[in-house]
Amino acid sequence: MPKPNVYDLLIAGAGPAGLSAAIAAAKAGLRVAVFERSKEIGYPVHTSGGSWITELRRLGVPERFMHPIRTGKFLAPAATASFSYETPVSCILDVRGLYQYLAGQAAAVGADIFPSAGVEYAVLQDHQPCGLKVRNHGEFFAPLLIDATGVAGVLAQQMNLRGPITRYGRGAEYDFYWPEWPGDTIALLFGSLAPKGYAWVFPHGEARARIGIGVLYPEASTEPRKLLHALLARGEIAGCPLIRRAALEFHLGTIPAVPPLQKTSAAGLMVVGDAGGLISTLLGEGIRFALDIGRMAGEVAAEAHQVGRFDAEFLTRYDERWRERYGRLFAWGWAINQRLAEYDDNAWNEKIALLSQFPVEAIPALLQGDWSTPLLLALLWHHRRRLSRTMWRYFYKNMWKKS
Ligand SMILES: Cc1cc2nc3c(=O)[nH]c(=O)nc-3n(C[C@H](O)[C@H](O)[C@H](O)COP(=O)(O)OP(=O)(O)OC[C@H]3O[C@@H](n4cnc5c(N)ncnc54)[C@H](O)[C@@H]3O)c2cc1C
Repeated sequence: MPKPNVYDLLIAGAGPAGLSAAIAAAKAGLRVAVFERSKEIGYPVHTSGGSWITELRRLGVPERFMHPIRTGKFLAPAATASFSYETPVSCILDVRGLYQYLAGQAAAVGADIFPSAGVEYAVLQDHQPCGLKVRNHGEFFAPLLIDATGVAGVLAQQMNLRGPITRYGRGAEYDFYWPEWPGDTIALLFGSLAPKGYAWVFPHGEARARIGIGVLYPEASTEPRKLLHALLARGEIAGCPLIRRAALEFHLGTIPAVPPLQKTSAAGLMVVGDAGGLISTLLGEGIRFALDIGRMAGEVAAEAHQVGRFDAEFLTRYDERWRERYGRLFAWGWAINQRLAEYDDNAWNEKIALLSQFPVEAIPALLQGDWSTPLLLALLWHHRRRLSRTMWRYFYKNMWKKS
């Protein structure tokens, strides 16, 4: 009978990355514990939940958590691009519902889950992590830890894999009852209403829509909540009247706007999700990567136990796996993100007008960061004179030469 506070794997943070790692590791037979700082899994909500249906299906997300979207509108002050799809390609997630479901899945395969259990620090033996000190619960021990604490990166910081995040996106969002807004249409709004960022309208069923603004720091000088209030005061968004102030929830969140860490593993530790900067900074998207890369970390944890190796060299295979699948996509997102932060209204008008000329099939690949599809490559070539020189050089060096 193992001691109650001794496990094979301890996971700090029960967001999508931590829960996905827990499911994979517990499924493979490991004794797993997950610690979550909040009182409730999936709440407070700190994400807008936009994602891609095919990718989520591949990751095993049930359809009931996806609200399908048929039309996407991109609006600059003097330009609009609109794309519609008979079969929806994107969706807005029921965030709390999905995270609760994932926690249930982790529990079903044997993981222990502790809410209201903030991880304070990693317990060390000979400079290597061997456990966690958890607020309200005491000490737990395992030869392997996973840091899934999001932007906080509590363990990654302690083990010197990173410092505090200095460049990040901060988002403020109301979840409105807004029956006037078309329930199958999202809007992304760019320009001076959200300098150094953008605004969004994400409907998610039952006449509800998340209206938010995210901005990049340290570049931004106005906080997103203030910008959001100014947007709501207009009384309309994208031509749709918003007269009643019927918000049912308010959400705040922070996402790193940095490239992935050089190293996301060390002896006895793997870093997953936002904690490792494992996101696409193109639009600030991280949920599907957290799910997929979390699973990879859980699988590597099981492999480490099979051979009894928890050293830095062995765990490098985790870095190699996510880099192989997503390294290029993250690099693209990062390159573009730095450009977008510089755009003013005129630049946005020009870019959205350019976007409106793209064929409808190219848009999902473009936004997903999958820039190696032949259609997209052909389009980028066609518009090469309108792309900036830096971007063009980047495309050439990183895509064409490698594809
Ligand atoms: C405003 C905003 C909008 C976004 N919109 C989208 C979107 O539309 N689509 C998309 O794909 N992505 C979006 N993202 C990004 C997405 O939310 C993240 O990439 C994703 O949540 C990362 O998952 P994670 O599990 O790594 O981290 P998180 O979801 O942040 O989970 C980390 C968990 O760890 C817990 N935690 C923190 N510290 C501790 C501790 N010391 N001890 C124990 N637990 C701790 C936290 O409470 C949290 O539950 C958005 C982000 C923001 C901020």
